[in-house]
Amino acid sequence: MTSTDLPSHARVVIVGGGVIGASTAYHLTKLGISDIVLLEQGQLSSGTTWHAAGLVGQLRGHSVMTRLIQYSTQLYAGLHAETGLQTGWKQCGSLSVARTDQRMTLLHRTIASARAQGVDVQELTADEAGEKWPPMRVDDLKGAIWLPGDGKANPTDLTQSLAKGARMGGTRIFEGVRVTGISQSKGRVTGVQTEQGPITADIVVNCAGQWARKLGLMCGVSVPMHSAEHMYIVTGAVPGVHPDLPVMRDPDGYIYFKEEVGGLCMGGFEPVAKPWGMNGIPDDFAFQLLEDDWDQFEILMENALIRVPGLEAAEVKKFYNGPESFTPDNNFLLGEAPELKGFFVGAGFNSMGIASAGGAGRALAEWIVEGAPTMDLWPVDIRRFAGFNNNPTWLHDRVKETLGMHYTMPWPNLEQDSARPFRRSALYNRFNAKGAVWGSKMGWERVNYFARNTAESAIEYAFGRQNWHDAAAAEHIATRTGAALFDLTSFSKLMVEGRDALAVLNRICAANLDRPVGASVYTGMLNTRGGYESDLTVFRLAEARFMVVTGSAQAVHDADWIRQNTPEDAHVWVSDVTNAWSVLAVMGPDAPALLQSLSRSDLSDAAHPFATVREIDLGYATVLANRMSYVGEAGFELFVPVEFTLGVHEALVGAGALAHAGYYALDSLRIEKGFRAWGRELTPDITPFEAGLGFAVDFTKPGGFIGRDALLALRGQPLHQRIAQFSVDDPAPQLWGGELLLRDGVPVGKVMSAAHGHSIGRPITLCRIEEPARSIDRAYLAEGAFEIDLAGARFAATWHAKPPI
Ligand SMILES: Cc1cc2nc3c(=O)[nH]c(=O)nc-3n(C[C@H](O)[C@H](O)[C@H](O)COP(=O)(O)OP(=O)(O)OC[C@H]3O[C@@H](n4cnc5c(N)ncnc54)[C@H](O)[C@@H]3O)c2cc1C
Repeated sequence: MTSTDLPSHARVVIVGGGVIGASTAYHLTKLGISDIVLLEQGQLSSGTTWHAAGLVGQLRGHSVMTRLIQYSTQLYAGLHAETGLQTGWKQCGSLSVARTDQRMTLLHRTIASARAQGVDVQELTADEAGEKWPPMRVDDLKGAIWLPGDGKANPTDLTQSLAKGARMGGTRIFEGVRVTGISQSKGRVTGVQTEQGPITADIVVNCAGQWARKLGLMCGVSVPMHSAEHMYIVTGAVPGVHPDLPVMRDPDGYIYFKEEVGGLCMGGFEPVAKPWGMNGIPDDFAFQLLEDDWDQFEILMENALIRVPGLEAAEVKKFYNGPESFTPDNNFLLGEAPELKGFFVGAGFNSMGIASAGGAGRALAEWIVEGAPTMDLWPVDIRRFAGFNNNPTWLHDRVKETLGMHYTMPWPNLEQDSARPFRRSALYNRFNAKGAVWGSKMGWERVNYFARNTAESAIEYAFGRQNWHDAAAAEHIATRTGAALFDLTSFSKLMVEGRDALAVLNRICAANLDRPVGASVYTGMLNTRGGYESDLTVFRLAEARFMVVTGSAQAVHDADWIRQNTPEDAHVWVSDVTNAWSVLAVMGPDAPALLQSLSRSDLSDAAHPFATVREIDLGYATVLANRMSYVGEAGFELFVPVEFTLGVHEALVGAGALAHAGYYALDSLRIEKGFRAWGRELTPDITPFEAGLGFAVDFTKPGGFIGRDALLALRGQPLHQRIAQFSVDDPAPQLWGGELLLRDGVPVGKVMSAAHGHSIGRPITLCRIEEPARSIDRAYLAEGAFEIDLAGARFAATWHAKPPI
């Protein structure tokens, strides 16, 4: 359509005509929305999409991303028949090869998790892999896996085919129209401005690829991403290459290959990427490439020659150096922006936009139509980031690492190293002096464990026990037998206040918050399906003042959830006060006495019982003390005004024997006690009944709560998914989570959290069981013979009706 036909209004305006914008439009029309305008400043696919290599690999680090791509493969296979336009889809299968034993262990773990997700996968010997991929050298390989359902598509054709499907459903597509501004009123998007005039709209969708950050900045929305150069070559004929050759990945060499008109397309993900676009992405960067950079490409070329010696003699026909946007964690950004109602984002596709487009476009369209995600999308939810993540210098330094993460060995507890330290607690330097080894969550530096000697001073990654095992064990035991200090400052804290604060929060939380001032209530926030949106503690600090204490990564999400579910005329304010409070948890049987020695407030069980929070004096400081525990021992979480943190720490250390402990110990302590964690056991697809947390739901409270109807319908019904605790009988294996759970030899679920249970002397896990066709009741759990598959080896597991300690 020409820009002179530009309408003045549309229900939905999509900005960007790459594969993501086209897929979102296509899926919106499938959901019955036809009044859609898609605006593209250049031509369809002219941004990043046109030069993608087109690989479609299903297996990803997060099961939701795998599910989205599984759907993409089904969609691409049938699209031609629907629209009459080819997509170039070819289900050629893919191989991943292993050069090392560690990578082979990973592939074994991959096989188990692929099977758990219904992805067809087979293990191959090196020779079998060579038969499937004749140009490859195999004598240095340990083995491979074969995914017959993987394939490749032609990105431009796919985009045109999706766009045709969208047009058939009513979408009007305008090329050569640039969006120059976003209009808003009272916190809600109202349309876009273009060089050809404004369009009012109820919904605006930012599918602007590398330009999505800039588009976000036009309306105060953070879209944290940075571009990096990404390269591949296309060669002339290579011996052994034929049209049906599968895709092949050699992640130890950072490289991938696919057949391309008799030659090979070879590219990869080098460990240190080259950022691009530091001064912004040019508006007219359409159908363009960057200059060849053979220096940057050298590490990929060297590895490619090792794997495919025949490349040596092949002609390099074309060098593609195309920039693509990467996010801080290598997962894309989806959903309604928390800063602006009605403004949705589908961007930051980290070199997997072609593979993900089908599923991501559908998920985004459903989110737009339903007003909420229809499945667990947390790993890609834009609300996992905050405004500070949009800092351009930080993003620049982080992107160097992100691109390479596709093929970096995904060690179980791998930390990202770049652009750190970012957020630090007041005790950072003090803990460094004590040998802290840091992890990072939501940008916060958090102590994983305290090294006791140089051998423990940095994490040595492995699939088996790692070098910090004994250090974490000592911290764990100290907590169970004495007193230990955990710095939990990264907890998110939201202050919710106003005349209607109780009414609003009580409708959002499943437990009853109408408790006396000083109550500390453990509760979930549920969605209308009865699944967990968050898992948190709420302090009633005054009649109309509540502090919501939630997970480190949850501040933006939970504040958004509260605002979304607050009536417009309600007298309620939500403010993020995370930065005002340090949280020092003092836990263990000796903790109450140690704290009492520093305070004139009465900390006895009678005066300050479990699940209450009060202001107390502690040394020179006045702090909030919450009697609750995430480790299952006596103790208090101290909410300390930041300026008193150093003083409180000095007082605590001077008061008696107090161990310092980190998050690895915290995790093993909580798993032993069977405490569920949000994002692991608790997800938007799990209800309190399934999680075993029905006790934290109050069905009788006046006014009800979000999710109540769904839960009432499920109450008393058989459970088809369930969280359950299992220990492994053999003390030796190291489990990390993600392993397959079997009952009587049949896969039934997977491990969500795992640690070595230092108190019980064997591995301990929390697993999610799924049995669509039968009830998971007590008999099912008690009578089954359970095993856990650890990279192909099976270990007997014992179910615990109650935590073993
Ligand atoms: C070298 C390379 C190889 C790749 N290989 C693969 C692969 O094998 N498999 C895979 O899955 N992925 C691959 N990718 C990634 C894939 O190309 C991207 O993830 C995907 O194309 C992103 O699509 P998009 O729609 O988000 O962005 P784009 O295709 O860039 O589309 C965004 C569009 O928005 C338009 N736009 C921006 N601002 C405005 C505005 N203000 N007004 C109007 N229009 C605007 C732009 O012009 C652009 O056309 C590769 C990428 C590169 C660089």
